[in-house]
Amino acid sequence: MERVEYLLIGGGITNLAFAERVKSDDLLICEALDDVGGYCQTIKQDGFVWDYSGHFFHFRHKEIEDMLVEFIGRDNVRTVAKDSRIRYADNWIDFPFQKNIHQLPHEEFLDCLVGLYEIDDKAPADNFKQMLYQKFGKGISDRFLVPYNEKLYATDLSSLDVDAMGRFFPYADVKEIVLNFRRADNASYNATFTYPRGGAIEYVRALQRFTPSNRIALNETVLEIDLSKKIARTNKREIQFDFAISTIPFHSLLGITGLEYDRSVYSWNKVLVFNLGFDKKGPEHVHWVYFPERDVSFYRIGFYDNIFGADRMSMYVELGYPADKVITDDDIDRARAQVLEDLKRQGIVTDQKLVSHHHIVLDPAYVHITQESIGDVARKKDILASHGVYSIGRYGSWTYCSIEDNIVEAQATADQLNNAPGA
Ligand SMILES: Cc1cc2nc3c(=O)[nH]c(=O)nc-3n(C[C@H](O)[C@H](O)[C@H](O)COP(=O)(O)OP(=O)(O)OC[C@H]3O[C@@H](n4cnc5c(N)ncnc54)[C@H](O)[C@@H]3O)c2cc1C
Repeated sequence: MERVEYLLIGGGITNLAFAERVKSDDLLICEALDDVGGYCQTIKQDGFVWDYSGHFFHFRHKEIEDMLVEFIGRDNVRTVAKDSRIRYADNWIDFPFQKNIHQLPHEEFLDCLVGLYEIDDKAPADNFKQMLYQKFGKGISDRFLVPYNEKLYATDLSSLDVDAMGRFFPYADVKEIVLNFRRADNASYNATFTYPRGGAIEYVRALQRFTPSNRIALNETVLEIDLSKKIARTNKREIQFDFAISTIPFHSLLGITGLEYDRSVYSWNKVLVFNLGFDKKGPEHVHWVYFPERDVSFYRIGFYDNIFGADRMSMYVELGYPADKVITDDDIDRARAQVLEDLKRQGIVTDQKLVSHHHIVLDPAYVHITQESIGDVARKKDILASHGVYSIGRYGSWTYCSIEDNIVEAQATADQLNNAPGA
């Protein structure tokens, strides 16, 4: 039987970052698909460059950004001051909605403003939905925060933890909101973003270079793990490991290790992404737009062509579905037709013709972070770690995070194992 010190399950950004950091060459990445990168993929079609879904990057750690960008070449990566907006009742509102209610028609503005003074934001909230109403009031919550997030998460927001979006949620208190009426300060965690000319896959290649190709086994799926014997069975062989680093969805890992778990604890949404290429330019400058209205099929769209100043509209469009929704080819054709109709209705597409398209279903896309999932993941991670199995990454940690967060977590896990007694 083959033996490795580190068996890395999944060849996405997280495990590529782990492989770069760990002080051992005795490792093997098993990736079920025919290329590494996970959700960080790029499609090049008919002159358009698309990702699986808009993947824009906001680095807080300069050393991580430098490691990636120096390989890609600084001239090949654009840093852009983001222009993100909300389309609401035929109006364009700057993001975030809660700080820009003064841009709403007068009566709607008053509803939102009065709502802000009716709240009790000192009371602790029990769940995400309650938090929205308690912090932002009825006007803002009913118009944007609740419908937008329901379209995205495809679930009842009262089932989610108060902190389900972590640092990605743009909080603002009444004072900040009112000051913003005169002095616009819409800065958020992603006020600027970077994007490589060749698409998100460039960041993957920048990390992949640290791992020799004979240490990456493509089309190899880990099917079963015997925790007590530390043996993984794949579709090709059995592998004995000292440590396994898994980035596959946490509930899938529990399934292949045979650990008992309550299935109802783990829920998530699916996101259907359409990448659309048109023959002419569309709206200028804007990078992405949020759509809270329930009669619009998508919740967000983004424009690749406004990053590099291309002369043909190139978009991604995202639609949220519950995990148990079976999405057939007919559903996809119907959804694409509806998306094109909605884009026209919203004035995004006028006389442009669709000349190229692509779609992908991301499943899971956004995990539902609940009190139960937080507790269960922590308890089961401890059990797994006692057998040398570490579950990390966006889906391995069952969390909401960026690729930079994935790299930080992978590096911390590698450092912990590098520094372990006997390492
Ligand atoms: C809609 C959407 C938009 C996003 N936008 C951004 C963004 O703008 N900026 C940003 O920084 N992040 C963004 N993200 C997050 C980003 O995609 C993830 O954080 C990142 O890709 C997670 O990497 P990972 O390696 O942890 O997991 P994954 O990318 O999921 O990789 C896991 C890998 O495991 C493989 N695998 C699964 N099962 C097995 C098995 N049994 N055996 C072997 N291999 C297996 C899979 O094929 C996959 O390659 C977005 C995510 C979504 C869903």
